[in-house]
Amino acid sequence: MRILVVEDDRDLNRQLVRALSDAGYAVDNAADGEEGYYLGENEPYDLVILDIGLPKMDGLSVLEQWRRGDRNMPVILLTARDRWSDKVAGMDAGADDYLAKPFHMEELLARVRAQVRRASGHAKNEIECGPIRLDTKSARVTCAGQQIKLTSHEYRLLHYLMHHSGRVVSRTELVEHLYDQDFDRDSNTIEVFIGRLRKKLPVDLIQTVRGLGYRLSAEPDAV
Ligand code: CA
Repeated sequence: MRILVVEDDRDLNRQLVRALSDAGYAVDNAADGEEGYYLGENEPYDLVILDIGLPKMDGLSVLEQWRRGDRNMPVILLTARDRWSDKVAGMDAGADDYLAKPFHMEELLARVRAQVRRASGHAKNEIECGPIRLDTKSARVTCAGQQIKLTSHEYRLLHYLMHHSGRVVSRTELVEHLYDQDFDRDSNTIEVFIGRLRKKLPVDLIQTVRGLGYRLSAEPDAV
C-alpha cells in the first residue's frame, strides 16, 4: 500500500514518513499544497494524509480539486486545532477522517489501517485467504497457525494481494502501489518477490495469469 503525506511542518512530516514506513507502507511526501495536489492527481495512492494549513494551496482546496477530478482515495485530514468548523468543512470537501494536532502516532496508524481496510471492503484487521492469515496490526503472517517470516518487501506484496484477493492484479499495479516514487521501478523485481513469496508460503495460492498478472485465491481451480 502506498501513502502520500502532505505536511509543511518538517518534523511532523519526517515523523509521519518514518512511522508509516516502519508500519510497512511505501510513502511519498510533499511539503506544500501544490506539490501534494500534483502527486495525488498523478500517482495511484491508497491513502493520503493531508494537512489543512499548507503553503501555496490549502489542504481543503487540494482535497476539493482531487474529488472534482474523481480522485477517490481515502483522505485523512490533519487539523491544526480542535476546531469543529475545520472538521465540518473537511468532511464536506470529501475527507474520510480527520485527526486534530497534536495526536499520538498510534492513533494515526490505527486510522490509516481502518481506512485502508474499508477501501478494500474488509472489516477486520485480520485478513484471511485459505490457511493464510495476515494481521495488519502486528504485521504477522501465519499459515495454518504457523508463523511465516517475511521481509518487508514480501510482506507489502502479500498485504496488497490479500487486500485484493480473488481479482487479477497486474505487475504495473503492484509496482505503483508497493514502491515510493524514488524506487527503481523495474517490474522484474515483482517477479523476483513473487517467487520468494511462493517459496515461503507452504501452499500455492498465488496464480500467474498469463499476460495479465497475479491472483491470490484460496480456490486454485478458479482460474
Ligand atoms: Ca501546516
